[in-house]
Amino acid sequence: MKSQDIRKAYLQFFESKGHLIVPSAPIVLKDDPTLMFNNSGMAQFKEYFLGNGIPKSKRIADTQKCLRVSGKHNDLEDVGFDTYHHTMFEMLGNWSFGDYFKKEALDWAWEFLTEVLKLDKDRLYVSVFEGNPSENVPFDQEAFDIWKKYVPEDRIILGNKKDNFWEMGDQGPCGPCSEIHIDLRSNEERAKKSGRELVNEDHPQVVEIWNNVFMEFNRKADGSLEKLPAQHVDTGMGFERLCMAMQGVQSNYDTDVFTPLIREVETITNTKYGSNEKQDVAIRVIVDHVRAVAFAIADGQLPSNNGAGYVIRRILRRAIRYGFTFLDTKQPFIYKLVEILSNQMGEFFPEIQLQRNLVRNVIKEEEASFLRTLDQGLILLDNVINTTKGTEVSGRKAFELYDTFGFPIDLTALILREKGYTLNEKEFDVELQKQKDRSRAASKVKTGDWEVLYDDDVEEFVGYDTTTTNVKITRYRKV
Ligand code: ATP
Ligand code: MG
Ligand code: MG
Ligand code: MG
Repeated sequence: MKSQDIRKAYLQFFESKGHLIVPSAPIVLKDDPTLMFNNSGMAQFKEYFLGNGIPKSKRIADTQKCLRVSGKHNDLEDVGFDTYHHTMFEMLGNWSFGDYFKKEALDWAWEFLTEVLKLDKDRLYVSVFEGNPSENVPFDQEAFDIWKKYVPEDRIILGNKKDNFWEMGDQGPCGPCSEIHIDLRSNEERAKKSGRELVNEDHPQVVEIWNNVFMEFNRKADGSLEKLPAQHVDTGMGFERLCMAMQGVQSNYDTDVFTPLIREVETITNTKYGSNEKQDVAIRVIVDHVRAVAFAIADGQLPSNNGAGYVIRRILRRAIRYGFTFLDTKQPFIYKLVEILSNQMGEFFPEIQLQRNLVRNVIKEEEASFLRTLDQGLILLDNVINTTKGTEVSGRKAFELYDTFGFPIDLTALILREKGYTLNEKEFDVELQKQKDRSRAASKVKTGDWEVLYDDDVEEFVGYDTTTTNVKITRYRKV
């Protein structure tokens, strides 16, 4: 089954169960101070759970463009290295706002996977919340009993609060969740070791596909729980993972969501995916990141030097750097993938088709400018090496390259390693700390009611890796 048809099948199934199908919300959030990007299907419905506003329908389903590169959900460091976490992915979701509850949600999840899609029942594992007496949260007997109708008890896993209890914050709606995992290993591998032992073990072929959250409690300020007056369902299923299961492959990158992009990268860079591990990582990073960047731009978030724009710039630069280092790409090329993305996704997400030229041009421009930085940096780094006595390169000089020219420090370290040099990292860290102190001091400027903030929390919130330039992230706090 093609990915297009899998998406359609999901939406049609929930439409047949009385759900209103709505479009994805934009990937970039403009009016939520707690979140830069949509990172789950429920973000656009949050207010309904909090009791503010009334949804158009008590049953809604959609596929939501999600981005997990900051805050609580930050998968960026895994992307490229594993085969099932992306920066941008689609989350298929169905919701009940005070309407159906556990029985329908789990019955339909099972019906969709095993009867509509005909996935092998023996490969599915489910989890339910084990309960937490010290916090007065009970074991989810109801979900357990529903699953017992479909799966043998040894494939029902009891999960703890971390994996199987969902909370929006310290207070507010919360409740247990029930996940569905699938074991895609060969029969031979499955005979050797039960999938049960591999659920939650980060095994690339035993992955979580669907999470069903049941909002049934309200956590009060004193920490105690009370039953909500109306109960809600919030589900999220990873579309690319579902495609992997349906297409009989063992990596999201081997599904038709990614293969056309990979073929194009192979052609442009004259490489073969699957023949060299480092190049494979680079190719996965590029085809993943181009989606995130393209959809962010199509939704109105241009790369820039602060806030969400800066996150997008850094994602794109990560892709450029992987290409530059491992695929030897010295000319812009990532922008060429936009055409393919637009052909593939445009039918369902018209924004990518409508904004195709803008997206292409912005990416091409960003690539050209960052490649110039990398080129200059290489020359400067050569000079540093030539004036180095011994094999240890000064951390202060590496910092200068990083701070003044925007040359990524991890690239410096990599090149030095390849040439048989080491980097004095302690010295680099000292310089980095000094720079942070300087910008913090400089930031104690107040503009009217607002104080400009540069702090470590902000960097943690936004960021992921060391590909920073000398640009700082700016946020404002009301004073
Ligand atoms: P995981 O444990 O695999 O990181 P999760 O528990 O963080 O997933 P949820 O927040 O429950 O994920 O999101 C619902 C579904 O979205 C997951 O069951 C999974 O199929 C999918 N998903 C989550 N994160 C990603 C990602 N980074 N890339 C692709 N799919 C994802
Ligand atoms: Mg996760
Ligand atoms: Mg999980
Ligand atoms: Mg989950």
